[in-house]
Amino acid sequence: MTGTSSTFCVSRRRLLAGLAAPALTAAAGPIAAQTAATKTAAQEAQAALKDATGTKLVLLGTGAGPGPGRTRQMTSHVMLSNGAAYVLDCGLGVTDQFARTGIPFSALRSIFITHHHPDHNIEYGPLLVIGWVFGMSLAVRAFGPPPLKQMTEDFLRAYKTTIGFWAEDFKMNPLGMIDATEVSGAGPVTQDENVKVSAIIVEHPPVKPALGCRFDFRDRSIAFSGDTAPLEAVAKMAAGADVLVHEAMYIPALETYMRGEIAKGRPVKFEDYMAHMKADHTPVEDVGRIAQEAGVKTLVLSHLLPAIGSIRDDTWRAAVAKHFKGEIIVGKDLMVV
Ligand SMILES: [Zn+2]
Ligand SMILES: [Zn+2]
Repeated sequence: MTGTSSTFCVSRRRLLAGLAAPALTAAAGPIAAQTAATKTAAQEAQAALKDATGTKLVLLGTGAGPGPGRTRQMTSHVMLSNGAAYVLDCGLGVTDQFARTGIPFSALRSIFITHHHPDHNIEYGPLLVIGWVFGMSLAVRAFGPPPLKQMTEDFLRAYKTTIGFWAEDFKMNPLGMIDATEVSGAGPVTQDENVKVSAIIVEHPPVKPALGCRFDFRDRSIAFSGDTAPLEAVAKMAAGADVLVHEAMYIPALETYMRGEIAKGRPVKFEDYMAHMKADHTPVEDVGRIAQEAGVKTLVLSHLLPAIGSIRDDTWRAAVAKHFKGEIIVGKDLMVV
């Protein structure tokens, strides 16, 4: 495997170099500037991970919802502990963002999906295939609500021919099936030498079940609300954790944003849309209350709704600080916590 994959790497580099040249030539100023900005965030993440002594969390994507082409990518995270990588959620962009951290795909141990909305699962299958091309172990495991097993089987079946060509070309073991475990209720999910993972059921209608998760590493505990309306169970799950990553909705900006979208022709009714959002997500003030009740050291605001760049960090922070006295971090893509 090692010999063939290094041969493969050389051809891949040639392939990528060949692809990159015309793309760069075609890139106009703003695109080049954006690439440079991404590179800086990636370099910062790589440096932070290189110097890390303990478990680290990287926010790969911090935007709520499945909007393409935004500054903030859809939701995904990776935790790196003792050389093993644990991905939570697979919104569009997870594979690129993972690669930008510099963590090798061979480090990928497990993938967790909180719920079956596209901003959390749409790139689950592609991550498996591209991960495999770049050295992901076939022993990687996946966890998430039903029908994760069926989804995994169906996706890998759909790409069987593609995988087969690549495996033949580069003499790799084909990505056949991976072990997917369905999680339907609250309680322990899995455990290995680095981490114990547990889940709770959160409130995100009509998605059932939708999960919140807690990762207890040897040196650090990190809890994730998942997508949820304000929920006591999240405070209980996160009790005493070092870090709580909580979704956050800023209603005034969301209202303005949606009125604009509807004016542009988006086919939803304002009242229906806002009622859905309030039933499914947590206003940022409530995030502060929940974090204070949980007594976490650090609160990370992520899955920001609306996922637009014009809301200042101070606005998010001020709403939370009314109730929460610990450290507040407004999430940014590729930030290392
Ligand atoms: Zn979401
Ligand atoms: Zn959702």
